Amino acid sequence: MRKPLMAGNWKMNKTLTESIPLIKELINLVGTYQDTETVICPPFTSLWVARELIQDTNILLGAQNLYFQKEGAYTGEISARMLQNIGCSYVILGHSERRGYFQESSAEVAQKVQEALIFNLKPIICVGEKLREREAGKAQDIVREETEAIFTVLKPAEVDRVVFAYEPIWAIGTGKAATPRDANEMIQYLRSLLVHKYGERVAEDTRILYGGSVNPENIKALMAESDIDGALVGGASLQAESFARIVKFKEKE
Ligand code: PEP
Repeated sequence: MRKPLMAGNWKMNKTLTESIPLIKELINLVGTYQDTETVICPPFTSLWVARELIQDTNILLGAQNLYFQKEGAYTGEISARMLQNIGCSYVILGHSERRGYFQESSAEVAQKVQEALIFNLKPIICVGEKLREREAGKAQDIVREETEAIFTVLKPAEVDRVVFAYEPIWAIGTGKAATPRDANEMIQYLRSLLVHKYGERVAEDTRILYGGSVNPENIKALMAESDIDGALVGGASLQAESFARIVKFKEKE
């Protein structure tokens, strides 16, 4: 059984001062909730305070990026070891905003995945197509290329420590989520790639999230699909109440 996972990607939002009330409110709403694995990924500047606030709760900590080198003269970068040391369990890697604005290649994302695993961080690996690629009938090709780049570094015994997130770029921050059916279809395709590379059992155990304009209104329908194991949530994770409703998607409102 794959436990549902909801990860909030705060992106470049919330100062340290603004993070504190948001985390406290979230703790009040879902701090003891166990049916969903709940992860918050604040900016680096709020990781420490988040870690202090969420200890003794069921909320886990994630970062939004790392650099694949161990340490040294890489001004402005953050290593996997630093993230492990500050208390992160997860790290988002290969988000389309990093691939787009910062020219991160799939090969670089793969290096980051390797480094994360060395330091016991669970990577949430994002893949997904642009609108023009979908319209050109190339959505599966893009997802396959981005996923197979990760397969080149991922050993069979490591697959249970990674999470994939299918995030169609046209759905991110646009208010236009993929339909549950389309999202599920692509996630089934991604799972079939896992079956082909690592076998049925490994593929069945690997969690694959959907991301792109997830909100409290559409989460139930997405989670009703056979292969969607949770969500990577941007905008709706910036308010405790909306993120909590997503985390508690199973509950009657
Ligand atoms: C994201 O940043 O990964 C994301 C899915 O954002 P949003 O929920 O705002 O579309």
